Amino acid sequence: MFNNYNFNSEIMKAAFIKNHGDLDQLIIGNLDIPKLKPNEVLIQTKFGALNHIDVFLIKGWTGLNIKMPHILGSDGSGIIKEVGSAVTTVSEGERVTINPGLSCGKCQFCLSGNQNFCKSFSIMGEHQWGTYCEFFKVPEENVIKIPDNLSLMLAAAAPLTFLTAWRLLTTQANLLHGEFILIHGAGGGVSTAAIQIAKFLGATVITTTSNSEKIKKAKELGADYVINYRDNPNFGKYVFTEITKRHGVDVVVDSIGKLTFQNSLRLLKPGGRLVTPGATTGPITEIDIRQIFWKQLKVIGSTMSNQREFREVMKLIFENKLKPIVDKIFPLELVVDAENYLNEGKQFGKVLLKIS
Ligand SMILES: [Zn+2]
Repeated sequence: MFNNYNFNSEIMKAAFIKNHGDLDQLIIGNLDIPKLKPNEVLIQTKFGALNHIDVFLIKGWTGLNIKMPHILGSDGSGIIKEVGSAVTTVSEGERVTINPGLSCGKCQFCLSGNQNFCKSFSIMGEHQWGTYCEFFKVPEENVIKIPDNLSLMLAAAAPLTFLTAWRLLTTQANLLHGEFILIHGAGGGVSTAAIQIAKFLGATVITTTSNSEKIKKAKELGADYVINYRDNPNFGKYVFTEITKRHGVDVVVDSIGKLTFQNSLRLLKPGGRLVTPGATTGPITEIDIRQIFWKQLKVIGSTMSNQREFREVMKLIFENKLKPIVDKIFPLELVVDAENYLNEGKQFGKVLLKIS
């Protein structure tokens, strides 16, 4: 008798690495479909979305120990194919996306709602197989159903960057209505989310970018001032004297790191906050500590989000108050081209992989 399974059904197509190195270590091949634990959900992947962590993982870092072969991919959307025996809140056939933050669910941090402080906190695709494959699995609590009015494409583009930007600007920066915020590098995934969230919270948004096309797109997202940093390498002076009338900005979002950190501190007004979710140009730099104590600045780090923040920001996306921005979609087979494209910083918004 026929059933749903054919003799190939245990195997799926995936983008994975067998060794660390350059981006061309990413290969396409067949791997086993993951087996579910009772609390897990198997999702047939429609779209995956790229993040900078992919490149870091391919290159590897000291102390990183992942089992090979390893499937990358932190963001993804799709249709639930199978649920574990203990799963009660979602079922087969539902359209879903995921919270890419994984935690133990049992420690004091997890139980108090601070999942991203958990000792075993990790990101989907970091230590467990990710989404760049035909079927991926996550714990039930990481699944979120998406409404009919949201496409699976936009749903895949949202989670990691929006949950990061939401925690960054609300919990960590405590951005208030009427404040000035500077967001470096308008085109990045977190930045396109942060610009929208900052406007949603009622702030005046200043952002920087590298060409006229991106300036136009940043303005469409709601940015009040968009500066071309290639044409105006001393844009800090313009921000300080012209835009903030020599007061400085209240909040800087600095995900650039080495190249911008010192200037970000200089541009803050007394009592201002620098929030950092990453350092794309490098994590080590020299800073003038006097900037911090004289102006009584706060320098605040942020990584991912907790479950509450994830669900808060996804609700705003479901209500169409925030909109994921998709720059380009590559087929799974062209994953290396997609990673190169992201790595070169050409994008404005998210780079996606179409899986099936
Ligand atoms: Zn925990």
